[in-house]
Amino acid sequence: MVQARQFTNKRTAKKIGWIELITGCMFAGKTEEFIRRLRRHSYAKNNVIAFKPAIDKRYSEKAVASHNGTTFTCYPVASVQEMQAIFEVENSKQLIDVVGIDEVQFLDETVVDFIEELANQGLIVITTGLDRDFKADPFQNVDRLLVLAEYVDKLTAICHQCGNLATRTQRLVKGKAASKNDPLILVDGSESYEARCRNCYQQAK
Ligand SMILES: [Zn+2]
Repeated sequence: MVQARQFTNKRTAKKIGWIELITGCMFAGKTEEFIRRLRRHSYAKNNVIAFKPAIDKRYSEKAVASHNGTTFTCYPVASVQEMQAIFEVENSKQLIDVVGIDEVQFLDETVVDFIEELANQGLIVITTGLDRDFKADPFQNVDRLLVLAEYVDKLTAICHQCGNLATRTQRLVKGKAASKNDPLILVDGSESYEARCRNCYQQAK
């Protein structure tokens, strides 16, 4: 049940929205940071709603799950339309303050317009996504959000090969760099991933 947030000094001015993007390669802690930010708003009784693409079935069906086990309840959605429909129902009284969207690169490109619309309406949108795909090219949605977001945090990982700072995600199939003809989005578990630095990253062939 969504209830109006109750501040001692209730804001009467029109709310200003914005977009926060948490990006970087895999194993950088993006989802942990995402959950931390959503929890901060929950502690302050801001109304938070969170989504994640249903394509990402790692760890948990019903909650955003990070590699270290912390979770935040969210709606898994198969499409942007489904996300919008759930949002409209949950926000029927216009009481939602914060919208979280995890793994934004897995949704179709209309999600960026939806995020802009939410921020224009005075909501805070907190979103995460990989900045590069496994070929080290810019990932859809995140490429535009890097420009549109008011706040961008680009997190780094530690290279699984050499221990230096890692900024790229290496997709491996049977221990070798994946083919450049592989599909961009693959979460079926037949492959594995490593965080790699500029030197250790192997370009897909
Ligand atoms: Zn390295």
